[in-house]
Amino acid sequence: MIRCISCGAEYGLDEIIYTCRECDSILEVVMEPDVSRDIFECRRNTMWKYKEFMPVDETRIISLQEGGTPFIKCDRLGEELGVNLHVKVEGSNPTGSFKDRGMSVGITKAVELGVDTVGCASTGNTSASLAAYAARAGLKCIVLLPSGKVALGKLAQAMFHGAEVLSVNGNFDEALEAVTALALEGELYLLNSINPYRLEGQKSIGFEIVDDLGWRSPDRIILPVGNAGNISAIWKGIREFYEAGFIEDLPRMTGIQAEGACPITNAVRKGADEIIPVENPETVATAIRIGAPVSALKALRAIYDSDGTSDTVTDEEILDAQKLLARTEGIGVEPASASSIAGLRKLVESGEIDNGEDVVCIVTGHLLKDPNTAINACKEPVSIEANIESLKNVLKDL
Ligand SMILES: *Cc1c(COP(=O)(O)O)cnc(C)c1O
Ligand SMILES: [Zn+2]
Repeated sequence: MIRCISCGAEYGLDEIIYTCRECDSILEVVMEPDVSRDIFECRRNTMWKYKEFMPVDETRIISLQEGGTPFIKCDRLGEELGVNLHVKVEGSNPTGSFKDRGMSVGITKAVELGVDTVGCASTGNTSASLAAYAARAGLKCIVLLPSGKVALGKLAQAMFHGAEVLSVNGNFDEALEAVTALALEGELYLLNSINPYRLEGQKSIGFEIVDDLGWRSPDRIILPVGNAGNISAIWKGIREFYEAGFIEDLPRMTGIQAEGACPITNAVRKGADEIIPVENPETVATAIRIGAPVSALKALRAIYDSDGTSDTVTDEEILDAQKLLARTEGIGVEPASASSIAGLRKLVESGEIDNGEDVVCIVTGHLLKDPNTAINACKEPVSIEANIESLKNVLKDL
């Protein structure tokens, strides 16, 4: 069933509904499969390994083999920061971000519901992913992007997979409001993370982390927070495995926001249960350039219930962390993703994170999503003639 997280009103899994009809709050899918964790053994390593926990018909899944992403032990960076560090590399998903997990479930549901058009507003990755999965399912796809604020790789993907791409004169929050209104009139099936099926796919990040660690939780999971769906999803996944008896402990959920787009952090600092939207969100990390996160209520619960926290990082700290991860561990991520590493660094320095803590940082999207930012952060290549003298001449100065 689908349930309102505020008033508990219940809806059927076959209903097209995004917010509660009683109280307007957000919804979640409730699932309590009665299975043992042994069933996961020997299954192929994609997020569908955990299909009993996915609320869709398993005989017609729309998949590009998302999930099962690398879980990398980062000893050099961990030592530098004083923690035991793993990095979950979501850029290794089919279209290069974790959004694919949510879209696989969301598009599967769209096909079950018999819709012919899907749509979203996006800072970039949601549109790239939706365009690809809609193509695979043979559905029409409309995406709204804030004009001039979408990284090049993401734009290329959305267009190339054949979505109708509309450039909106406004920010993400405004684009989302417009497309939501259209969805409520029944013109398209909305696949932003207000759609509770999106989070059902993304909760598999939580499943994989505890599975990869040998059925235990890390002390802490750190991730970037924009529209706040992912932190809510991961916490939901981990709690489901906890309630199923697969693990005996829970991690502290730690959400990192950009200083120029931090309504969740502001709320956590005050201990508030609701956010106050940030009017003109701004950050180099375009994927988290969001002022009014739709899953704020779920995210705040995840943070409070897990005894976690939230903090901000500056654009400079984000870009420094992006480079640090790329150069000490060989893991290339887009700016928003690096905010988890920047946040880890800041929270270690402030003493919030203890020395030797078991930390998992989620890096959400691939470096090549935003090639301009990467190139701008580097010197131009040295230009040489194509002969050995010219080559030696350069090398002696290195
Ligand atoms: C979508 C996205 C985020 C933010 O996730 P939310 O669920 O909106 O909080 C962070 N990083 C990247 C790369 C993303 O694509
Ligand atoms: Zn309600």
